[in-house]
Amino acid sequence: MSDHEFTRALGYANAALDLLKKSGIPPYPQFYELLYTYATGVNPSLNHRINALFSSGDSPTTSLAETLYNEFLKSDVNDRMSTVSERMQARIEAVHSAIDQAMTTANAYSGSLQSAQGDLERDISPEALKALATRLLAETRRMQDTNRSLEQKLEASREDIAALQRDLDDVRRESLLDPLTKIANRKSFDEGLRTAIAEARQTGNSLCLILVDIDHFKSFNDTYGHQTGDQVLRLVAMTIKSNIKGRDLAARYGGEEFVAILPNTDINGASIVAENVRQAIHGKELLKRSTNEKLGRITASFGIACFHPADTAGSLIERADRCLYAAKHAGRNRVVTEDNLAEITEQTRAGVTAA
Ligand code: GH3
Ligand code: MG
Ligand code: MG
Repeated sequence: MSDHEFTRALGYANAALDLLKKSGIPPYPQFYELLYTYATGVNPSLNHRINALFSSGDSPTTSLAETLYNEFLKSDVNDRMSTVSERMQARIEAVHSAIDQAMTTANAYSGSLQSAQGDLERDISPEALKALATRLLAETRRMQDTNRSLEQKLEASREDIAALQRDLDDVRRESLLDPLTKIANRKSFDEGLRTAIAEARQTGNSLCLILVDIDHFKSFNDTYGHQTGDQVLRLVAMTIKSNIKGRDLAARYGGEEFVAILPNTDINGASIVAENVRQAIHGKELLKRSTNEKLGRITASFGIACFHPADTAGSLIERADRCLYAAKHAGRNRVVTEDNLAEITEQTRAGVTAA
């Protein structure tokens, strides 16, 4: 860690502690994490909620901090992952102890057989032989019982482990989804883009990236509330998802930004997809579910870049972002691609100059 990073992290830590003190919230790790995250500003949605509180003259209470922690930071996936691994651990221990028990019984049985062999090598009376046979029979039954019980325990474990495997698959799938919109999250986008770039590099096929950013979303939230804003995020996510197909991937890039990876698609194809999404978003009249209140329409801006062999994931995203930025500056609710970037930027400049 560089000195600069250290100083910055210390600054966040101090800010988090100050806020805890100021608001009278106990400095438990989860509340510290909440306010540390707030201090970094990496989660705009969280900051939006806390800032709204501060600007109305309030400060977060312990119970609100708990709610915000559960909503923004507590990871259900992590909890479930540790439950699965605890159950897995318990199962493994149960199997071990069943095997240990069976081995102890098998060793005792083998000892009995050896001692019976010694007895048989000597001359023994018919009564002693009968007693020996009875003892061996009883021990053989005990051995059979132990084996049966081991078999049952192993069978139960097999079923339980299969169920755990299914749970683990579910948790893994969920860890790749954005909890709010249920489309791919940033982590699966990063992975998807890496794979798509490797493939485009190998096959020489085209690959395009669409960045989507909802227009004036802050003011939408301020007007209609965060929960209605969340519904809009779900709607936009579904609209993007329903306009792509096959191996395309739609993901929530963060906050009110989305991204679509379109393998085997050139800039014209990507523009058509983006234009369809743009019109679909603009075309929907929003209604508040609870009251049927009309909320008007929202729009979104789009930036499209296509992969060049010299690109990294970062450079490709950066170019798409530049197009998105130009779309915002040109008035929003539009699609800008690398092909029309220069023209749009020029028009915007001319417009600004003329104004
Ligand atoms: P622009 O057209 O320039 O993109 O304006 P904007 O207001 O959309 O952009 P800005 O970056 O200023 O604000 C983004 C807003 O998105 C801030 C925050 O209120 C909202 N936002 C981010 N994440 C969430 C979320 O998870 N839920 C809700 N409801 N709002 C969110
Ligand atoms: Mg944004
Ligand atoms: Mg925006």
